[in-house]
Order: sequence, then structure tokens, then C-alpha cells
Amino acid sequence: MTDSSRRRFLQSAAALSAAGLAVSHKSVLAADRGPLEGWINHDLHSHTTWSDGAHSLPLHVLEARAYELDAMAVTDHYVPGSKLHDSEEQLDAYLEQIDRERAGQDDCRIIKGVEATVLDATGRISIDARHAERLEWVLCDLSGHSEGTLRHTPADKQAYMENVIRTYLGLCDVDYLDAIAHPFNTGNTTPAAAPADYPERLLRELAAKMAEKRKVFDIINSMIFWFQKTGVPPREITAQYVEMVKLFAAAGVMFQVSSDDHRTGLGNTRWPQLVITRAGVPSAQIVDALAIPRK
Ligand SMILES: [Zn+2]
Repeated sequence: MTDSSRRRFLQSAAALSAAGLAVSHKSVLAADRGPLEGWINHDLHSHTTWSDGAHSLPLHVLEARAYELDAMAVTDHYVPGSKLHDSEEQLDAYLEQIDRERAGQDDCRIIKGVEATVLDATGRISIDARHAERLEWVLCDLSGHSEGTLRHTPADKQAYMENVIRTYLGLCDVDYLDAIAHPFNTGNTTPAAAPADYPERLLRELAAKMAEKRKVFDIINSMIFWFQKTGVPPREITAQYVEMVKLFAAAGVMFQVSSDDHRTGLGNTRWPQLVITRAGVPSAQIVDALAIPRK
């Protein structure tokens, strides 16, 4: 894909949305039928049997090559209790296997990564600098390990949302962190927080810091997983997330797309591409995965 054709595609989507047309279902479909060459051809968040993914790493790499992705990051979970986190030998073996499986081919750039998790609302993270140094791409998510947000969720919804923002602000100060995995995955808790529930003032504060500290916003295909208990219709969740992405894009935040594949398909980034297109994110704010430094 040439850069100019991608730019044209994204600009036409941005023009549609600026004209208020993207809210009508028909025009959204028309925009969706844009040239396939406008597709962002990376998948920077995926799992194998090294954590809770369905496929072995060798098969995963073959899939990335077969699907003709430009770049794919293997980002197995690095959380307390997982083998990559708890065993130095297992981490060595994981990295060696990635090296082995990606060698001898130039079909797809295979990136060595992990998905760490945040441990508390100050932004303390499950991986340290020494281990992160061995990786090319480090993600961090909110999970059941994250005290004050998904773990021991405050009963007060405002307090909960303030904790989520405070956690992400803290993550921005972790120098070796590259991307925040599926931000605002806060729909399956009690109380639940949907994208539109967050105060705009707090979102703007976070967006400014993510842009300043160059923390990438990861849009995963399976985001609806995180809102399955809300009862909010999927298209409404999408519309809310598009508004959120617009706000972060306006602040200059960078984005990546991913499947967060466990068993739904490596390279399946249909939903992120819908969101990116509808939000009119400029191509200059999409991570150039081929430029991620090798280790
Ligand atoms: Zn993941």
C-alpha cells in the first residue's frame, strides 16, 4: 500500500464524518467499502499457547505469513502467576522460539512482545525495565490483577473512573511501556463504565499525557468482549468508542490495531479498522510497525 493512497482513503473517511454523514448507516457502509489497500496491515497484540492463546507459536507465525500481514507482534501475558513472568527459563525459551520461528523468511515482520498488566492505581506494572529491555514491544492492560480498577472495583462509579484515569496516567510514566492494551475495558465490572461515561476533562488530561509520552492506544477487534454484561447494544458501544478515539486522535495520540487473538483469528482487525475510519484518524497517527526497532 502506498502512503498516499492510505492517506486519501482515511481523508475521505474523515471528510464524511466531518460532514456528519458517517452517522447515517448508509454512508458508513459506503465508507467501509473503501479500497482494501487502505487497510492497516499489522496486528500488534496476539496470544499463543505460551499464555492463553489457542495456537502454538510456530502455527501463529505461519498464519501471520499466510495472511500476508506486514507485521505481527506476539504478546503473550506477562502477569504474576504466568510462566513468562514467574520463570526466567520460560521467558528465555519464549524469546528463543520467536527468534527461531521468525528467521529465514521476510514475509512478515514478527515482533517480540508481551502483554504486562498494571498492578495498582499508581500505574505500577508487572514487568520491570530489565526484562522489558529484552522485548521489542511491551503492552500493558487493566486486568483482574489491577487493584482499584478491575480488582476491588470501587462501588462509586465516579471513584472507579477516576482510578482508571489515574492508573493510565501512571502508566504513561513507565518509560519502557509502548502501548496501552484495549484502553477502557471497563464494562464487565460492577459498576460498569462505558466509554461515554468518562468525564471529558479527565479524558483530555490523559490524551495529552499519552501524546506527550508517546504511549500508543491499542484498538482490539474483540472490544465487545469487555462490554458483554452492560446490555448496551454493540453499535452503541462502537459509536461511543469512536468518539473517544476522536478525542485521543485530536490530542495527537498514536494508534495500533490488533486482533488480541486468543481464538478468534490472527489478523482479524475489522472492528479497529471501522473505528479508525469513522474517527478519521490520520495515517500519520498509525504506528509504522515495520519501523519498530529489532532486538
Ligand atoms: Zn491480550
